[in-house]
Amino acid sequence: MTINVLINGAKGRMGGEAVKAVGQDPACRVAGQTDREDNLPRVLAELRPDVVVDFTQPDAAYPNALAIIQAGGRPVIGTTGLTEEQIAHLTALCAEKKLGGLIAPNFAIGAVLMMRFSAEAARHLPHVEIIELHHDQKIEAPSGTAIKTAQMIQAARPVPPPPKVREVELSPGARGTAEYSVPIHSVRLPGHVAHQEVIFGGLSERLTIRHDSIHRESFMPGVVLSVKKVMETDRLVYGLEHFL
Ligand code: NAP
Repeated sequence: MTINVLINGAKGRMGGEAVKAVGQDPACRVAGQTDREDNLPRVLAELRPDVVVDFTQPDAAYPNALAIIQAGGRPVIGTTGLTEEQIAHLTALCAEKKLGGLIAPNFAIGAVLMMRFSAEAARHLPHVEIIELHHDQKIEAPSGTAIKTAQMIQAARPVPPPPKVREVELSPGARGTAEYSVPIHSVRLPGHVAHQEVIFGGLSERLTIRHDSIHRESFMPGVVLSVKKVMETDRLVYGLEHFL
């Protein structure tokens, strides 16, 4: 059976790559392409796609996902910026409708491994900070990948080590932000795609786990895999690791 896939955000950088990658896979067909000017609920009602891949922008991800699930489509959401509450609600909606789905802050296989290795390292080296680096067109900070990494580190290292000193920030934000008790520093520069360093400090030792996406095609094997996997499951999951 061919999987009919609608790509939402198809005129964007990630959406354009997804159109190419999904279109090249023999098991899939690009049934439609939508972007900002289209009426998503109307197109969903007309095309009835099996799967909808969404690469739009943070404030659109939640209403788009609601529309997709409402129409009986299986969401593959790459757009970042969904809150924990929104993810919980979308998970419950998919469970109710017995729909497979995925929300993935990062579709690169290497990035998923970076997150997994970081969680493992945090069990033994609890002092850790994250530096994430992205292109200068990225709207939100910190990145979804950094937040997910921090969440996985917290789950592996439930008690963060207490600070050694009472820190004073001479400029607000100098020590970055903190998600799940892990400091995150966000860099936005031209010449970058998506990169992250997870730095662990121990007694006279340092461990750095680094991942670099040097082209957006790095995310596409994960996208195509997810399109197929959501057809085989009846619940929504958060993180590509569930499909590896
Ligand atoms: P982009 O180049 O700006 O593309 C986004 C596209 O979506 C644009 O064409 C935009 O139109 C359109 N759009 C905006 N709001 C929309 C809506 N409500 N309905 C339909 N289309 C809408 O951005 P990008 O670099 O492709 O990134 C897209 C998202 O993917 C971001 O959230 C980014 O953080 C995320 N991302 C995820 C991964 C991952 O592996 N999960 C990897 C890279 C990026 P306009 O140009 O008119 O605004």
